[in-house]
Amino acid sequence: MTFFPPLRIGILGGGQLGRMMALAAARLGLFVHVYCPEADSPAFDVVPQQTIAAYEDEAALAAFAATVDVVTYEFENVPARTAAFLAARVPVRPGTLALSVAQDRLVEKQFLNGLGIATAPFRAVDDLADLTAGLADLGYPALLKTRRFGYDGKGQVKIASGDAAAAAFAAMAGQPAILEGFVPFACEVSVLVARGLDGAVAVYDLTENVHRDQILRVSSVPALVKPSTALAARDLAAKVAVALDYVGVLAIELFVVERDGEEWLIANEIAPRVHNSGHWTEAGCLVSQFEMHIRAVAGLPLGASDRHSDVVMENLIGDDVARVPGLLMEPTAQLHLYGKREVRPGRKMGHVNWLKS
Ligand code: AMP
Repeated sequence: MTFFPPLRIGILGGGQLGRMMALAAARLGLFVHVYCPEADSPAFDVVPQQTIAAYEDEAALAAFAATVDVVTYEFENVPARTAAFLAARVPVRPGTLALSVAQDRLVEKQFLNGLGIATAPFRAVDDLADLTAGLADLGYPALLKTRRFGYDGKGQVKIASGDAAAAAFAAMAGQPAILEGFVPFACEVSVLVARGLDGAVAVYDLTENVHRDQILRVSSVPALVKPSTALAARDLAAKVAVALDYVGVLAIELFVVERDGEEWLIANEIAPRVHNSGHWTEAGCLVSQFEMHIRAVAGLPLGASDRHSDVVMENLIGDDVARVPGLLMEPTAQLHLYGKREVRPGRKMGHVNWLKS
């Protein structure tokens, strides 16, 4: 008798997100094979099978695909060719549409606007003339960002006046860019949504996020916004997941803008994967974002996204790990370390979920 499909999950990327997905899969009794170019990847420590190879290595990709029933990924910059090569052999979930939308900030904003979801005003910038015209339209301050491969504020420059335009353009190093009007937000929030293979949708409670040096520091639930804003975020997230025919967990980063006593949501970014701002779900929900993602890509029922506790998630970055001995004695702290041997400034070493009720 087989009581459960003996599914084998392939994960592209071996960072902490891949590691936490792998742990969740293991808890469901599933086999995991992680593929990552870096030999010292945190996810390798917790899985039975590993491949260390470049994302362009087709022989290694083919061998990887042959060992798994479904492939997922922990980062949105999976090369399009890699995803297509694997998708010809084994289901890749979430699909390539989500990747192509999330990999390009211009395509992403056009996609969101097409669904009636507000974003910062933007202009495509391919040359200095585009930038000058864009700044005249959008005013100051404005942000110039590379269209692709930006994260945690990398690849973006704030432009405070016309004098700074040429230097900002030079900082893009010839890459296609996008100019965004500055959003005077009251706070930053994110919403995580899961969609199953059967089209079922589950949305986690809205999370309020605080960044320092453009790296996420703290996420709190519930977010201190109006109930109607939290509801609007749920609707928006479900709409995006359906429009992308998405399977898995997806995060949308949003700005909350206050105007005339009302709150408005402005979408900033889609992450087609589990997300740092969803780590609180490990302590606040019966089914964490990691398990939810694995359930979805494995074609299993999603389970509940309901929150049973208030949680404040704090990232442990760089030297913050020195606090670990003290944190281990805290009765309301759930500690999660990623097994990274080397401490570096700005490196995410782990996180703590503080249970608040
Ligand atoms: P991103 O790389 O787009 O996630 O941006 C990193 C951070 O920069 C965001 O979390 C915001 O704090 C800030 N930011 C990005 N875009 C804008 C914008 N258009 N207006 C105001 N702040 C922004």
